[in-house]
Amino acid sequence: MVDKEDLNYPSYAYIALARRGMEKISLDQCFLENCDNEDPKLLEPFKKEVFEKENKVIEKIQIKCKKCNRIFILKFETLKYVAKSTKNEEEKPLSMGLVHALDEDGKNLGHIGYF
Ligand SMILES: [Zn+2]
Repeated sequence: MVDKEDLNYPSYAYIALARRGMEKISLDQCFLENCDNEDPKLLEPFKKEVFEKENKVIEKIQIKCKKCNRIFILKFETLKYVAKSTKNEEEKPLSMGLVHALDEDGKNLGHIGYF
């Protein structure tokens, strides 16, 4: 059984713009070609996979779009920078996240932004 709480993902990603700072884009939309679904009620995350590599955590969330009846994947990649200094153990390691959209077969649909 899948725990629905585990399927939560950020609602927004940020795109860095050259001069205007960051633009916020909604992740509650279908990223597949020829689909304009932006209704979160028509998006159903149903599976999450987590991979850990030495310096990053990759979470893949499979989402079913009920408008075009296809599946796409949001891939969240979190890079972990562990502080080398041990002087300040209270300090949290910095992390940065990248979001990509993939189609059902894992084909990259593009880099969306940062989260
Ligand atoms: Zn769709």
